[in-house]
Amino acid sequence: MLLAAKLLLLCLLAMSMLMGVLVLAVARGERNSPPLRLWGWGLVAYACGMLVIISSPFLPADLTQVVGNGLISLSALLTAQGLLMHVPRRPNRTLLVGGLLLVLLVLVVNHVLHFGLAVDVAAPTLYATLIYATVSWQIMRHPPEAARGAAVFLVTTIVLTLGVWNLRLGLILASFEHTSDPERAYMLQAWFAVFQLLLLVSSTLGLIWVEVRLMQEDLRRSAFTDLLTGLPNRRAMHLRFEEEVARCKRLNQKFGLALFDIDHFKQINDTCGHFVGDKVLKHVAASLERGKRAEDVLGRIGGEEFLVILPHHEREASLVAAEHLRQTVETSKADAEVAKPAATVSGGVALYPDDGEDWDRLYMAVDRRMYRAKRAGRNRVEGRDA
Ligand code: GH3
Ligand code: MG
Ligand code: MG
Repeated sequence: MLLAAKLLLLCLLAMSMLMGVLVLAVARGERNSPPLRLWGWGLVAYACGMLVIISSPFLPADLTQVVGNGLISLSALLTAQGLLMHVPRRPNRTLLVGGLLLVLLVLVVNHVLHFGLAVDVAAPTLYATLIYATVSWQIMRHPPEAARGAAVFLVTTIVLTLGVWNLRLGLILASFEHTSDPERAYMLQAWFAVFQLLLLVSSTLGLIWVEVRLMQEDLRRSAFTDLLTGLPNRRAMHLRFEEEVARCKRLNQKFGLALFDIDHFKQINDTCGHFVGDKVLKHVAASLERGKRAEDVLGRIGGEEFLVILPHHEREASLVAAEHLRQTVETSKADAEVAKPAATVSGGVALYPDDGEDWDRLYMAVDRRMYRAKRAGRNRVEGRDA
């Protein structure tokens, strides 16, 4: 029975080490995820702690308790720190580290004064309970939006782990382990190892699940966002356009589309450099953003071309809105925070479904009218063909 319990503890140790190494390897990817890295080191520390405790027959018993339980407490601190990276309000780091030092002090005092095994188990258990409860509470209060389900799974495994740890502590405190029947003490160790093994694997998978979800969200966001201006890109505008078409078709409504192109932008790049050119792009994007209504959708769909979807607009209203946006860009040069050349835009306006019912036709219409505005002298808006 003792052998079986030791073997199970050995399995727990090996699994912790393997999972730790696996998580560290995953964390080394492109994104270099700090929560995974800390979790990986936490698992390695846990495995080392278990190794020290299991080697008690070869080393002075209560010294292994100090080092082993110290490492297990350090593992709790590392993993909790990793998880806390996903919440906006983190507890004071000094408090967490201070707690670990207190645990070490208790273990050392116990080593000298021999209060018993219960103190060695109680110190890391209470410390882990305190910090994991804080972590779980914080994650449940502010779960990462893109990884809600994964976060609930992760927190559930953490709470179950706390349950197992505290149950074990309770049984030890009730002197269960020191009963006349040593079989029962080994049984307790064995059951603890089995549950801890299951929870270790599930919580690690839970964290990987959270990380994968966040990574997917990151990729999705960057696939639909223009890096320079932070606006929706061409792909995102295309999707939003299709949504608007579907909505208007169903409700038999119209919407406007406006395309803006910065005037003489090449000249700005050529005379002031691309860095200033980029600043102008950001400035125009910000001006258009400021000038549009909340429900209008603005995106950067090309080098220096911006598209605006104007829901609930008829032709006249679309022209007025586009003209207002053009003026916003023209006048906002006055409050430019850095010295940069004045920028104006020329725009073309079209209406769904009058000028076309799909992207290609409507885009062709706005593009054609935008070039009419260019030919007519720039810094103006055209809503009709010649
Ligand atoms: P027009 O008034 O007729 O539109 O003249 P233009 O000079 O603005 O037109 P053109 O299409 O010839 O120039 C567009 C320039 O935009 C060319 C390209 O180098 C520049 N451009 C495209 N994307 C970027 C970018 O991300 N950053 C910078 N700085 N320049 C860009
Ligand atoms: Mg252009
Ligand atoms: Mg241009």
